[in-house]
Amino acid sequence: MSNLNFKILAKEDKSRTGEITINNKTIKTPGFMPVATRGAIKSTPHTFLDNTDVLLANTYHLYLRPGVDVINELGGIHKFMSWDKVILTDSGGFQAWSLPTKIDNEGVVFKNIYDGSSFKMTPEISIKSQNKIGSDIAMIFDCLIDIKDSKEKQINSINLTRDWGSITKSFHKNKDQALFGIVQGGLHKDLRELSTKYMVDQEYDGYALGGLAIGETNIERKNIVKFTSELLPDEKPKYVMGLGDMHGLVDLIEEGIDLFDCVWPARLARHGKLIVGNTYINIKNKQYENDPEPISNVCTCFTCQNYSKAFLRHLIHNENTTAWLYLTIHNLIQTEIILDEARKSILESTFSTFRKQFEYE
Ligand SMILES: [Zn+2]
Repeated sequence: MSNLNFKILAKEDKSRTGEITINNKTIKTPGFMPVATRGAIKSTPHTFLDNTDVLLANTYHLYLRPGVDVINELGGIHKFMSWDKVILTDSGGFQAWSLPTKIDNEGVVFKNIYDGSSFKMTPEISIKSQNKIGSDIAMIFDCLIDIKDSKEKQINSINLTRDWGSITKSFHKNKDQALFGIVQGGLHKDLRELSTKYMVDQEYDGYALGGLAIGETNIERKNIVKFTSELLPDEKPKYVMGLGDMHGLVDLIEEGIDLFDCVWPARLARHGKLIVGNTYINIKNKQYENDPEPISNVCTCFTCQNYSKAFLRHLIHNENTTAWLYLTIHNLIQTEIILDEARKSILESTFSTFRKQFEYE
C-alpha cells in the first residue's frame, strides 16, 4: 500500500466529492484527467490548465519514445514534462485494444508504431516501466478486449487481468507510487462481479472500470457502472477509464465515480466543436464569420479572454496551427468548470438538480 489517502467530504445519494492525496499533492474528486499521451497534451501546453490536478500519460508511448530509462535519468516524469501535480500512468492495456496486437497468457505482442518491429509488453515490463517513469499512480497491466467480444473471450480477459494483476503487484517496487486495479468483464454482470472480487481480494489503492466507452450505448454503460460501482469498496477511489464527454461524466458521477480520463475534449476542439454550457457550437459555421463575441461570455479561459469567434473561425479556416491550441484550451477549461460545479453541487446537496442540465438527449 502506498501513501495515497482518499477522503470523502460530502455525499448526495451515490455521488460523492472528496480529495485524493498522494505525495503531498491533492486531486479534487470527482476529477478529470486530460491525456498527455507522450508527456504533453496534443495542441496545449499544460501550463494553461490552472485547475487541473492530474494528468494521464501513456506507458506504451513513453516506453517506445523517449524510453523509460531516459525519463528516469532526467529525474522522472514530473521533472521531464515540468508538471509538479499528480500524474497517473496507464499500463499499456488500452493500446492492446486500440492497436493491432496478439494476446497470449504472458502478455501482449505489439507492433512498434515507429519502426514496425514487434515487442512484447508483459505485466512485469509494464510495472517496471511505470516505476521508472515515476508517476504518482500506476495501473495494473490489464487485458482489454472489445465490448462485443464473446463471453468466452470476456472470461479469458478477467482471468488474465487477475493473473497479470498479481504479477504486477509482485514486481511493484516504487513506494511513492499508488497502484490501481482494473475490473473487466464487458457488459456481463456476473463477470464484472467476479472481476471485482478478484481485484478487491488483491487489494489496491483504487479501482478502475476498464473496457468501457468503446462502443456500448449510454444506457448499457450506465447500467454496468451502476452495478459494478456498488460492489467496489466505497472508501477507495473509483475510476472509469476512457470517458470524458460532459454528459457521460455527469451521468457516472451520479453512480459514485471519482475519476475519469479521455482525449475527447481535446479531440472535439480539433474538429472545431466547442463546449458552451451543456451543448456545443461548431466554430466553422458561417454564422460566426462576423461574430465579435468570445466563445462564451462567462468562460474564464485564455481564449475567451482574448479572442472573438470571428477570429477563431478565421484561424481554423486558414489551418493556422494556433487554432488547435486556442480551441483545446477552451474545451479543457470548460471540462474543469463542469467538474468544479459538480463538486460544488454535491457539497451543497444540489447535484440532483445540477445533473438535469446534462441529461442525454
Ligand atoms: Zn473559453
